[in-house]
Amino acid sequence: MLLDNHGRPVNYLRLAVTDRCNLRCFYCMPEEGIQYLPKKALLTYEEMERTVRVMAGLGVNKVRITGGEPFVRNGLLGFLRRLSEIPGIDALHLTTNGVLTAPHVAELKALGVRSVNLSLDTLDRDRFRHITRRDELPRVLDTLHALLGAGIEVKINMVVMEGKNTQDIGPMAELTRHHPVSVRFIEEMPFNGEGARLEGFTWHYRRILDELKAHYPGLYKLTDEPNATAYGYGVPGHAGTFGVIAAFSRSFCGTCNRIRLTAQGVLKTCLYDDGVLDLRQLLRGGSTDEALADAFRGAFRHRAKDGFEAEGRRSSHLPASESMSTIGG
Ligand code: SAM
Ligand code: SF4
Repeated sequence: MLLDNHGRPVNYLRLAVTDRCNLRCFYCMPEEGIQYLPKKALLTYEEMERTVRVMAGLGVNKVRITGGEPFVRNGLLGFLRRLSEIPGIDALHLTTNGVLTAPHVAELKALGVRSVNLSLDTLDRDRFRHITRRDELPRVLDTLHALLGAGIEVKINMVVMEGKNTQDIGPMAELTRHHPVSVRFIEEMPFNGEGARLEGFTWHYRRILDELKAHYPGLYKLTDEPNATAYGYGVPGHAGTFGVIAAFSRSFCGTCNRIRLTAQGVLKTCLYDDGVLDLRQLLRGGSTDEALADAFRGAFRHRAKDGFEAEGRRSSHLPASESMSTIGG
């Protein structure tokens, strides 16, 4: 079991398979997009598979595929199949914007993908187009229905943003009335790829919670999993549940079990650090599996205790100089 210097077990890898995306969510990247990495700068599927095998040997048993948009990278399903066969990996998860996902849902089910996080910030087509700068809401809703139809666990990620979609908190919450989904309301974070500080952050998780309580006076607290980032809530009679994620307030760092690997193979021991290990260099420089495992152990011996310390240790840039599309969320 991989333990960090604060005694936290680390068993969950978030793997960004690409930095490319077919949407342009304004909180993630500028309208013109980000400077994508050249193809050869991305880890190959073989390199990622080897990394996961080594990490599985250290006790990692849960992998989330993210990006960019995972489905814009060719060969994704074959890669998922190979990951699903790695001994020790007992849960594969996926985060997607849902634009290209619906046709693959049956295969995801067959591969045993445990749950899919679908990013959806509004049910209003105009606001969707405004936020993502693309008119793709119908295809995202097709994916939602396909996932529910296939019986795959669905979590919906809604970033709550002043002046953009706060009127959608109620309608999004209503999805839980008849559908067995978890709708997660997420504080906006500063990773917009523009270098601009996050202005006007007013939708703190407590305010989101107050808004939910105003809609549902019967809201009750659920028991959260030990490493959960979301505070879970239920409403009597609803098929689904809510989560509120203090992603910017960073209230969950004390139990963080996550490793992040960016699309170019940079290891992050915290979302807010600026990378602690160049894995691609090790992989391409001929390192043995044992050397890779040592490098992972070494990285987790110097882990910041929380996201504030990690941010303070960044070498120069603001987090906002990074796009979440490169990090994976
Ligand atoms: N493209 C896929 C998607 O959107 O689901 C996967 C990658 S995306 C970077 C992963 C998650 O990060 C999404 O749920 C997205 O809403 C979230 N995200 C991106 N930028 C964010 C920001 N600035 N603040 C909070 N969440 C953000
Ligand atoms: Fe693309 Fe996901 Fe970023 Fe939106 S949040 S631009 S869908 S990577």
